[in-house]
Amino acid sequence: MGLGGVGDLADFARAGDLAATGDIAARAGKLADFTDSIKAAASGLNIASGAGGDFAAMQVLRTIQQGETIADIVSEAKAITYTTGNEVALVKLASGERALVTGGTGGINFEDGQITRLFGHTHPYQVPPTGPSASDVQALQSLGQQSSYILEHGQLFKFGAR
Ligand SMILES: [Zn+2]
Repeated sequence: MGLGGVGDLADFARAGDLAATGDIAARAGKLADFTDSIKAAASGLNIASGAGGDFAAMQVLRTIQQGETIADIVSEAKAITYTTGNEVALVKLASGERALVTGGTGGINFEDGQITRLFGHTHPYQVPPTGPSASDVQALQSLGQQSSYILEHGQLFKFGAR
């Protein structure tokens, strides 16, 4: 499939040490982002790994209760991502409840107004790390957030709405 090819190209570009490496990686990234935007064109908001794969509509796994620690929630999101291959996000729902939600291997589609905050989300293990995708950054802008977190290949990092 073409989408696998994009991931392979990005991976190849990262592994190489040619002067043109950054350029190839940037192009592969742009192509992946472009694919994301086509897939997400019909939806209000979405987050993505930027490395291909299928999007799926947000599905609530469970709501978060008072007193739960962030460390436990992150571990749970990581385990679900690892076992299912699907992205997982910690969000605030329109109801005001915080919840762990999931989607597809390539990303999660949200309907307009379905979530009011994206605390963080995971990227799957079966694709190379990409950092925040264009969709991720756009999602923050739409939600009016300064930053959010991504857990990718075991690394937790912050990204901004720029
Ligand atoms: Zn993402």
